[in-house]
Amino acid sequence: MKLIFEKSSKGRTAYTLPKLDVPESNIDIPTHLIRKTHLNFPEVYETEVVRHYNELASLNYSVDRGFYPLGSCTMKYNPVLNEEAASLEGFKMLHPYQEEETIQGALELMYELQNFLVEITGMDNITLQPAAGAHGELTGMLIIRKYLHDNNFNHKNEVIVPDSAHGTNPASAAMAGFKVIEVKSNSEGRVDLKNLKELVNENTAAIMLTNPNTLGIFEKDILEISQIAHQNNALLYYDGANLNAIMGKSRPGDNGFDVVHLNLHKTFSTPHGMGGPGSGPVAVKSYLKAYLPKPIVSRRENGMYFFDYNIPKSIGRVRSFYGNFLVLVKAYTYILSMGKEGLKKASELATLNANYLKEKLSKSFEIAYSSLCKHEFVLKGTMLKNYGVNTLDFVKRLLDYGIHPPTIYFPLIVDEAMMIEPTETESKETLDFVIDVYEKVLDEAINSPEVLKEAPHSTPVKRLDEVKANKELKVRYINNEEQGLD
Ligand SMILES: *Cc1c(COP(=O)(O)O)cnc(C)c1O
Repeated sequence: MKLIFEKSSKGRTAYTLPKLDVPESNIDIPTHLIRKTHLNFPEVYETEVVRHYNELASLNYSVDRGFYPLGSCTMKYNPVLNEEAASLEGFKMLHPYQEEETIQGALELMYELQNFLVEITGMDNITLQPAAGAHGELTGMLIIRKYLHDNNFNHKNEVIVPDSAHGTNPASAAMAGFKVIEVKSNSEGRVDLKNLKELVNENTAAIMLTNPNTLGIFEKDILEISQIAHQNNALLYYDGANLNAIMGKSRPGDNGFDVVHLNLHKTFSTPHGMGGPGSGPVAVKSYLKAYLPKPIVSRRENGMYFFDYNIPKSIGRVRSFYGNFLVLVKAYTYILSMGKEGLKKASELATLNANYLKEKLSKSFEIAYSSLCKHEFVLKGTMLKNYGVNTLDFVKRLLDYGIHPPTIYFPLIVDEAMMIEPTETESKETLDFVIDVYEKVLDEAINSPEVLKEAPHSTPVKRLDEVKANKELKVRYINNEEQGLD
């Protein structure tokens, strides 16, 4: 389709303003501040704008259009009710500098959300400030570092991370100044306890785990792992980006974790992807409360809510103001509308859907780890190579059948990995359709592999040069006239 700039025609406008009924003012703008080049806005009618953006939106694949099973990312359907709540005037028109007396409702919402999340995770205290999962990890790591420092454990400079971990885990630990030590997974896809025991020593600051891990498998030895950490004066960190496999069922706080981050934009239902606003609250056990970022929301005896800056050893602020407030509103709405039983049910269905898909697909595909999974599982695409294609070719072909590819080539420890998370919001009919499509494409891989090589055939853009798209990112339209100037 054409760019909006290419639809531009001089003199067209998409607005109508009343006639000027006051004298025109001639403010003298200093000449050096006056723009020398044409502003280069597209000039189009209102209908053209509306049609243009609707057409653009229709080219985009999203969870509102179809199955979107990105493993380790929980792309689930996000109820419209949450959007309604977040667009209430009283929430969306708030100003971060408003007096506390005028924002009691917003503060109450944050206070209650803090309590809900503390209850769900089995922790004691929480900050809602971090803006994303990775940001929460960094916050958690900085809390751990300061705590260790204050307790004369300065020499503790190593964080142990499994080889199946999400890439942000080692990155966050390194960014907080720790050395990252990798612990192996065993043949069941769990942390190799023997290897872990070899790695833990007096320099260990923390063990960072995801549970269920990114292979979708629950670390059943978690209590023993917690013991190993604590016996060595190390802390246990929980990556709770995708809590949807266990919420209402098992609490990281009860399993010995000291610090937990959550992704409200995954588990607690805010649309994400494309860099949209997120929220990565960090919950801690009470002995770490004094290190949380400032402020947290507290309640006075007279019932008034306030921003509590009295956090003596706080690591400081990690974000301007109080986090992404409207994401908090959505998470709050989601938790209230689901209720205790609803959250539990969501976990059960997420796990049921993943196991249903895994069992059915295991008839034709190799499953990386065949034990019962939680919210996600990993297929191995190794056998595709026998037909001259690979995982990338395979998933590109899925697009032609109208379903989004799973996460691929992650976790790194699985060859030709396809990591599938159907989520709790998909029906049996959808899952059966997906199974059909996977089997059909496998059939094509065997009988007409060239179709996969060239796929996708039906999407607005075909195969992209993904490296170039990353290295030479072009996010702005430059016309011929401007090209010479830039
Ligand atoms: C998504 C995810 C993260 C990072 O969250 P962002 O909000 O993208 O920074 C961390 N860990 C796991 C397991 C995740 O799935």
